Amino acid sequence: MRPLVWFRADLRVRDNTALHHACLRADRGVVAAFTICPDQWLHEHDWADCKVEFLLRNLGSLRSSLEALRIPLKLIQTPRFESVPERLLALARETGCDALWFNREYELNEKCRDDATRVAFERAGLSVHPYHDQVVLPPGSVRTNEDRPYTVYTPFRKKWAAVFAELNSDGQPLVLPAPAVQEDIAIESDPIPGSMDGFDLSLGRPDLWEAGEPHGLDRLRQFSASRIGSYKDRRDTPSVNGTSTLSPYLALGVVSPRQCLTAAMGTNRGRVDSGDAGAVGWIQELIWREFYKHLVEAFPRLCMGTNFRREYDAIEWNEDESQFEAWCEGRTGYPIVDAAMRQLNQTGWMHNRLRMITAMFLTKDLLIDWRKGERYFMRRLIDGDYASNNGGWQWSASTGTDAQPYFRIFNPTTQGERYDPDGDFIRRFVPELSELTGKAIHNPSEAGLFSGLDYPPPIVNHAQARDRTLTEFKRVRGA
Ligand code: FAD
Repeated sequence: MRPLVWFRADLRVRDNTALHHACLRADRGVVAAFTICPDQWLHEHDWADCKVEFLLRNLGSLRSSLEALRIPLKLIQTPRFESVPERLLALARETGCDALWFNREYELNEKCRDDATRVAFERAGLSVHPYHDQVVLPPGSVRTNEDRPYTVYTPFRKKWAAVFAELNSDGQPLVLPAPAVQEDIAIESDPIPGSMDGFDLSLGRPDLWEAGEPHGLDRLRQFSASRIGSYKDRRDTPSVNGTSTLSPYLALGVVSPRQCLTAAMGTNRGRVDSGDAGAVGWIQELIWREFYKHLVEAFPRLCMGTNFRREYDAIEWNEDESQFEAWCEGRTGYPIVDAAMRQLNQTGWMHNRLRMITAMFLTKDLLIDWRKGERYFMRRLIDGDYASNNGGWQWSASTGTDAQPYFRIFNPTTQGERYDPDGDFIRRFVPELSELTGKAIHNPSEAGLFSGLDYPPPIVNHAQARDRTLTEFKRVRGA
């Protein structure tokens, strides 16, 4: 057996389920492949320049790690997913592989691509070995007592913990052992491209996001060694380094969710849902990630841009392009919103509390369609992940599963006062306001200061905007 291991959002050699099993079965060496589909990434998936740049650097690191195992990494470049089955099959034949191994992805386009690839390989007489690896518990394994998928997070989390406890009752390590060095097969790896059609790689931020498994694991080690204990207290304060910043690594599979869970349990005497509040809180966020992955698998229409709650299909969204642009560029006149959007534009990442504030502002204060915000985020985020991004946007817009009720609308000024009380975060990203002190930084217009500052007045009045949104949501609900 010579397996062809197809890497996707699992760019690591340690704790990689498909690679692990392929290496155990191989007796004539292993070949690795990665498919680069720039058109698909750009036009269908809205991937960010910085995400593609980060991906290529991680691919370089993966290639080195694979070469140390004597596994060559072959790259297939094809504009879209449609030609992937045929190109992969051709590669399998060229390299003498007789089986395909990969870890599943759960979004609709990816599932269709994988189904077509499986059919092509099986027709050609080659076996196909898909694994669950992107989540700790596979989609379909956490269901209600009526055997339905959960659509509300808290009961999902409780059931998740119960299923996990049962599976883990033997106390076996969650993380797989490292693969062994393979037989040398004298096939050369391909070079990693230095450019990509449609993407501006100069927009990457290698200074902020070091690539490669060792760096991802180091980030995890540092977080679990020193910051996880204070996670619950500091996770909502964007001016401090209170969260793990592992999302770019999880999104590309540079670290695995099992490695994260193992590290968190290691700080919490092996417990998942009791014990240290910081560790438990962090594990709950990992479970949010699982929740959204399970949802896209159970409800493929989530991948088609629809509201999960169809009753909101009739909302008449505001089409004002100038307001949308002001939001994108961080010029809304609401300091916390503007600081957050500039953080996104400059670093490719945004703090979770700020993702909620900015998404709520776009959908509730501006009444602009959440799909426009979802797309803008994907086009900027280094950690862009379809399931979490869609889940977060529909939560904020009140159109999703377990969403905020439509009448719970954040006040962007009080959110700023609560989560950035001294204005440290705002000052970092909105230098125009750096001289302001005390509460004035959250409300420069009310303090009568905006006229002297190079900073815009609020583009909407929050109280009026709130009323307009409540009226529109009530109208479509027939209330
Ligand atoms: P930590 O707080 O350290 O959490 C650890 C890990 O848990 C994260 O890396 C992430 O994988 C997962 N996680 C944490 N919070 C959530 C959450 N609310 N939902 C799902 N998973 C979570 N996350 C993405 O990875 N990609 C996205 O494209 C994305 N888009 C979002 C859009 C909106 C509108 C909102 C409200 C949230 C979005 N999130 C997204 C979730 C969350 O904001 C980020 O995962 C988090 O900010 C990443 O920072 P961290 O790694 O320091 O997280």
